[in-house]
Amino acid sequence: MSSTLRFRNAAAITMDVPCPQANTVLVEGNRIVWVGDEKDAPHTRADRVIDCAGATLLPGLSDAHIHLLAYAASLLHMDCSRRTVSSITDLHRLIGSQAQTTPAGQWLRGVGYDEFHLAEKRHPTRYDLDPAAPRHPVRLDHRSSHACVLSSLGLREVGITADTPDPVDGVIVRDDSGEPTGLLLEMNSYVSQRMPQQNQNILHQSVDKASRQLLAWGITSLQDATPGNGLEQWKTLLRLTQAGAIRQRLTFMPGIHHLQQFTADGLTHNMGGSTMTIGPTKLVATLTTGALHPPEGEIRRLVHEAHQAGSPVAVHAVEHEVVMTVTRVLKEASAGSRISPHRDRIEHCSEATPDVLEQLTDSGITVVTQPGFLYESGERYHAEVPAELQPWLYPLNALRQAGVPLAAGSDAPVASPNPWQGLYAAVTRRDSSGLALHPEQSISIEEALALWTSGAAYAAGQEQTWGMLRSGMLADLVLLDRDVTRAPPEELLTCPVAMTIMGGDVVWEA
Ligand SMILES: [Zn+2]
Repeated sequence: MSSTLRFRNAAAITMDVPCPQANTVLVEGNRIVWVGDEKDAPHTRADRVIDCAGATLLPGLSDAHIHLLAYAASLLHMDCSRRTVSSITDLHRLIGSQAQTTPAGQWLRGVGYDEFHLAEKRHPTRYDLDPAAPRHPVRLDHRSSHACVLSSLGLREVGITADTPDPVDGVIVRDDSGEPTGLLLEMNSYVSQRMPQQNQNILHQSVDKASRQLLAWGITSLQDATPGNGLEQWKTLLRLTQAGAIRQRLTFMPGIHHLQQFTADGLTHNMGGSTMTIGPTKLVATLTTGALHPPEGEIRRLVHEAHQAGSPVAVHAVEHEVVMTVTRVLKEASAGSRISPHRDRIEHCSEATPDVLEQLTDSGITVVTQPGFLYESGERYHAEVPAELQPWLYPLNALRQAGVPLAAGSDAPVASPNPWQGLYAAVTRRDSSGLALHPEQSISIEEALALWTSGAAYAAGQEQTWGMLRSGMLADLVLLDRDVTRAPPEELLTCPVAMTIMGGDVVWEA
């Protein structure tokens, strides 16, 4: 017996073109069966009638760019973000107290430090960490996940000495005598591979906790964009999903360097069910080491390899130069492709200047943006990004006007996965201190919500399955406690979720 739900008196935003608004939604089993005006609704019996009292009803939210296992692991580590740490002295104190309750020799890990928000305005070094924990290897991850600092014991544990050459895509920062300072750029996975594995039971518990928190924020689907995603991560996430620790639907993006293994195992793009699906293939293009890595020819080859395997790509590109190159490569690849155009994505596309916007127009490329970065780092952007570039940082309005398909993700653990901070920043351009960064680039609340619903579904290739309130789609919905189209935007920060429904089941209630 499948159960039935009837939502009435809703201010529903359906994200559907022919029926943008509705006050009644009927759910039967795991599907939406009717959306429209109450006076036209069929008079079927419902197991539960939910009076929305004029509050917003929406499709469930999707985080289109998250690193779920890393986010869950981050919940187990010391919080070194600006919330708890404002100087290297604070770091010292935090590490010292953690060392007192941790057996000697065991790793101490902290996440989220940001040199911009440290009083000393610099990265910590091994010499800062060593006195706080002389008998423990220490690793602190930078807020961006693109750098980390190891203590002297930490460096020894992972085998980094003055004689270790820089890996091709990373940098061992050294002092004048060639000694590593402890700061490592783009080497987080290099270091992780040389550290003991995370205890699986503890990881399970933290994934469970993370997933429950995400449901409370109204998130019913996740798109995992981890570049290191291989068969091992697929199996881990599948196991956690089957065990009920991950409740959200999951689009898993294989890392490009693992794609062949997936193909060999018969796991190709769009395979899997509605709970876990293979999404686009993830590639990273960066400028961290000073030059474009991988070089343009190699990016072209990798994109071709993914397309040949039947997979669209999701390419990490932040800086202007990288975004321009990646856009050009993707446009050329789709022009040369005989099969239907690929649904390629650019992840971040942070510096979207007018020439980038011109390239993107009519390209069909989706941009997966992170408005939450504006909320967390607005102050930093204001201080550090050249003034002429600031209007083009995550320019949501300009991207929208250029007709670029848009979706939003948090990039957690780089930023908080709380979508309400991102929604607030998308409509106000304000950061957590209230500072606004080019408000002309803001978008309306309805447009912003589309980034986390219909836009995210399109980015995942799931727009026929979820992301709208439409008859036949999966019944993933969020009921808010107010009409957010009428409330002041500051109220978004209160996370106004009253109820989260997945596949017709009420999975969270305030
Ligand atoms: Zn990311």
